[in-house]
Amino acid sequence: MPATPLSSSTIFVTGGAGFIGSALVRMLISGTDATVVTVDKLTYAGNLDSLAPVATSSRHRFERADICDEGALRRLFDEYRPAAVVHLAAESHVDRSIDGPAEFVRTNVLGTFTLLEEARRYWQSLSANERADFRFHHVSTDEVFGSLGPEGHFREDTPYQPNSPYSASKAGSDHLVRAWHHTYGLPILTTNCSNNYGPYQFPEKLIPLMILNALDGKQLPIYGNGENVRDWLFVDDHAHALWTVLQHGRPGETYCVGGNSEHRNVDVVRTICATLDELLPDPVGSRERLIHFVKDRPGHDARYAIDAAKIERELGWTPAHDFESGLRSTVQWYLDNRDWWGRVRSGAYRGERLGLGAAAMSAAGLESGS
Ligand code: NAD
Repeated sequence: MPATPLSSSTIFVTGGAGFIGSALVRMLISGTDATVVTVDKLTYAGNLDSLAPVATSSRHRFERADICDEGALRRLFDEYRPAAVVHLAAESHVDRSIDGPAEFVRTNVLGTFTLLEEARRYWQSLSANERADFRFHHVSTDEVFGSLGPEGHFREDTPYQPNSPYSASKAGSDHLVRAWHHTYGLPILTTNCSNNYGPYQFPEKLIPLMILNALDGKQLPIYGNGENVRDWLFVDDHAHALWTVLQHGRPGETYCVGGNSEHRNVDVVRTICATLDELLPDPVGSRERLIHFVKDRPGHDARYAIDAAKIERELGWTPAHDFESGLRSTVQWYLDNRDWWGRVRSGAYRGERLGLGAAAMSAAGLESGS
């Protein structure tokens, strides 16, 4: 047991102004006594509005910094002396990685490298007891494992086979984190999680994009035939999984995190339509009329599914939300929080189609969104 439990220590959360990071920060501030330092560059995906619920807490600090900036990171480690780092900062959207992979390699690979090096420098300056208690928790994705056929699940020992620039850059960062443990002894933890959904998600990802398009009476573009399957996890369940692994995970280990909740994309969109039709009926008729199948994403992975037996068996974590209730509360949140997404949409992102690559875009007569 550490001399000071993590629940009352200082924790860095990189990417804490993003979708999952902000859920973790809100949970840590409301549910623990930890002091949380959000370290975030505030890219298009970072949003201080998502941290409004913790803005008045004396235990929360926001530091605008790029994880590629070693000088800034060094100052932050020296100033705050954290007991743990939870690393979520990343470029996270597959379609954007197809249009512009360079930023993904920069932030996800070079940024993780820079953060690891600054964490290692700081960690080596600690006392033996502090070094033993320190944790570097790297938050990754199941997409590093590639694509599944109709059967089987990803597990911690599944070989890596990333297919998109996004998943390749995350796989690269996972390997660096692993190596910093094996080579230098840095006490790392890695989690590979399935698709998240929930409040405060930037409306370029499937679920919020469909909710907002449906509210606007716009087409609901589904890639290919809509048969691609994803395992969906409510974001607060992911935040609890991260906290569980951070406190109780074994250094050097990886844990797969999933919702045990596989759905075809077309069924997710149909459920969103049905939920919206019920909560806010459209006089014109069911929103299913807006569903529209579009050219598939290049290299679109067919199916992801997680076997989360290890985190359940070893750490006792299971998701608390089922997909139906989680999706319903998500739809309700977007209905209740028009200010949040109104401000997001008035910025740079306006819901364009991304991820066709420049050549395919001009062939399809579409404008590049990046
Ligand atoms: P997000 O895009 O909503 O947020 C990313 C955050 O990182 C933003 O606040 C952004 O400003 C910040 N950021 C980006 N580049 C930065 C840089 N160079 N320096 C500092 N901050 C920077 O992403 P998310 O969906 O919340 O995902 C968070 C993490 O979880 C990512 O590492 C992602 O790979 C992983 N993940 C996401 C999912 C999912 O379904 N969204 C699933 C599994 C794992």
